[in-house]
Amino acid sequence: QTVHVPLAERSYDISIGTGNLAQVGKWITSLRSVTHAVLISDTNVAAHYEKPVHQALEAEGIRVTSLVVPAGEPSKSVATAQKLWEAALEDRVDRKSIVVALGGGVIGDLAGFIAATMTRGLDFFQIPTTLLAQVDSSVGGKVGINLPAAKNIVGCFWQPKGVLIDTAVLETLPRREYLSGLAEVVKYGVILDEPFFDYLEANVQPLLDREPAALQKIIARSCELKAQVVAEDERETTGLRAILNYGHTYCHALETVAGYGEFLHGEAVSVGMLCASRLGEKLGVFHAPSTQRQHALLSALSLPVDTPQLDEAAILAAMQRDKKVEHGKLRFIVPLKIGKVELMADIDSEVAMSAWREGHSA
Ligand code: NAD
Ligand code: ZN
Repeated sequence: QTVHVPLAERSYDISIGTGNLAQVGKWITSLRSVTHAVLISDTNVAAHYEKPVHQALEAEGIRVTSLVVPAGEPSKSVATAQKLWEAALEDRVDRKSIVVALGGGVIGDLAGFIAATMTRGLDFFQIPTTLLAQVDSSVGGKVGINLPAAKNIVGCFWQPKGVLIDTAVLETLPRREYLSGLAEVVKYGVILDEPFFDYLEANVQPLLDREPAALQKIIARSCELKAQVVAEDERETTGLRAILNYGHTYCHALETVAGYGEFLHGEAVSVGMLCASRLGEKLGVFHAPSTQRQHALLSALSLPVDTPQLDEAAILAAMQRDKKVEHGKLRFIVPLKIGKVELMADIDSEVAMSAWREGHSA
């Protein structure tokens, strides 16, 4: 199964299958001729998948420089980037080399940033291995690293030349990480595609069981939907891409105030989407039964649905620092119905906070 990402001369394909990891060498050489690849992964991913990928590349006559960084968000740093630049140089990287990211969103963002910056830009290929990376971070071309004071603040747009997704790698993904990725999948249904939302409701058990057919379906549809939005607003200039931030203003505030690591990203998205739905009800544009449908689906998928007890002043302050704030007024992506959302500006902070507060468990 192939999803095309239409970005004029930067267009590329996402190739989705089950058990296709072993074909990675043939897949890359079908896209361009390659003699040297810098393969970047993290310790967890490398333990499972570095060897088959390394061998598949070598089988096509590609020399491989394999670089493994510690698993986890702290690897998206200047210090790690410097180590990777130096190790690549040490192993004779040149302008014809390619970079292959094998891992979750951390590795995709980091390796993409190395690709974008090394010798003024190397061709980049992605093999995302978390559900989040497969449905979200590997589509859209945003790459970068963190500074201690701000996430994703150093980076650029660097589109891959191709993305290969093997649903079988999700078998080894920890359950919490897997479920967290499903929250972004639900998000696509709410913002853009009611029939897809219906499909998710009807397939909770196959999804919890990570059945290959269900995985291929949700990954392909999520990639298509994100690709559509990205194609219309590649560099986040028209504001269209903002709909992807549904639930994320509350989510970012929750992540910041609870402390990074307390909630996985998708868990905070789950709580955040329900806050944004209740906000839609308060603004009179969304209906309670649709909030209940999201609540029921997210909780069936074992995602958190209750707003945690956190300092409200801190949550509000964090939302006011979010990038969707203009002139001190809050802006939110709010659903109008399942499958359609709108950016609502000038939201009163008390109304926004009541949508938060009403999510506390009874
Ligand atoms: P991650 O890359 O840290 O992966 C989560 C954990 O799963 C890690 O411990 C990893 O080692 C492990 N893992 C990965 N694949 C595995 C597998 N198949 N089997 C077993 N273990 C596996 O986290 P993530 O959730 O994939 O990505 C989060 C990052 O993505 C954040 O840094 C975020 O900023 C970024 N992101 C980027 C974009 C974008 O558009 N570029 C979008 C969303 C998120
Ligand atoms: Zn997200």
